[in-house]
Parts: sequence; structure tokens; C-alpha cells
Amino acid sequence: MNAPTFNHGGLFLDRDGVINVDRGYVYRPEDFEFIEGIFAVVRRAADLGLRSVVVTNQAGIARGYYTERDFQDLTGWMCERFAAEGAPLAAVYHCPYHREGIGQWRVDDHPDRKPNPGMILAALRDLELDARCSVLVGDKEHDILAARRANLGAAALFAPTDEVPDALADEVLADHLETICWLERVTPTLRDGARRASRVSRR
Ligand SMILES: [Mg+2]
Repeated sequence: MNAPTFNHGGLFLDRDGVINVDRGYVYRPEDFEFIEGIFAVVRRAADLGLRSVVVTNQAGIARGYYTERDFQDLTGWMCERFAAEGAPLAAVYHCPYHREGIGQWRVDDHPDRKPNPGMILAALRDLELDARCSVLVGDKEHDILAARRANLGAAALFAPTDEVPDALADEVLADHLETICWLERVTPTLRDGARRASRVSRR
């Protein structure tokens, strides 16, 4: 008899507009305002067996508004804050490339830049996460599209800031209390579905 497969999933989080208030090209801690409830989201995700991973487009590096080092410094500070709140992040992936970037950062359609799924696919591989049990929360259409292209189990739109087709996201979330309720609802369903599919495929 096969041992039961335990499916570890990920909670993929966009950064600006989901973790922090999107003020446009944020790169300093003094401009980084955590959105209420985000630490509780990550703590609850861990309880539900999800590892939290940040996937963030950083065109500001490509455009020369701030440097890779600025981004890494801010990321180090942000990760410390999460850890101090009992909500450690498993990893942070960023895409510094943009079609209007300068020098090395100018790349027409980089596979990592959302809506492309490169960052999500890398995290699934690096952290050995099961896409079917994984979910994403983003605030833009390109976040949801990236989740779809990576075949994640579900994707939710958080307080959308631009026009997004109704049918695109599985759920629209007004605040992080709703994010927690959604995770509690969707995570067991996805895991059961993945377990059933694993049993069928082993027959
Ligand atoms: Mg965003």
C-alpha cells in the first residue's frame, strides 16, 4: 500500500496592494505601510498548512527609480517584521525586468514578470509545493492571470484597484478578515481534491 501523499501548498502573495499600501514604487521602510491583518493572514495560512511566498513585479528597478540593493534591503526589513509577528515568510521572489527598462533590466516579455508565471513556477519547484493545493492573493488582473498560468488551485482579488473582468478571480476580498475566511474555506477543499486525484492517478 502506498503511503498517503501529503500535499503542501503555498499562499502566494503579491506585495504592493496586498501586503502594503500601494503608494507606487515603494522602496523605503518609512513608506511601507502594512495593510491591516496581513500578519494574521500568514499565521492562519501556516495553521492551514500553507507556506507563504511573496511574488512581486519590481519595474522600479528596471526604470532606475531604485536599485536591486534598495529592494533587497527593504525585503530584509519586511521579512524581519513578518518573523517578529510570528508569521515568517518562506521566500520572496521579485522580477526586476521591464520592457521599458534601462540596460540589463530591459527585457521585452520576461517569463518572471506577471502575468507570466515564472516566479510562481520557481517557488513551486524550489519549495516543493503542490500547485493544486496552492492559492494566490493579488490586487491586479496580472496577478490572477499568473496564478491561472501556473495552474494554482485558486486565486482571489484583494481590494481591486483597476477594472478586472468579473469571471477572472475565484473570489473578491474587501479586507484581510475576508482573506482569512476564504483561506479557511478553500484550503481543505483543494487538499481533498488533490488527494483524490493522487489516489486515482496511482491506480
Ligand atoms: Mg499589486
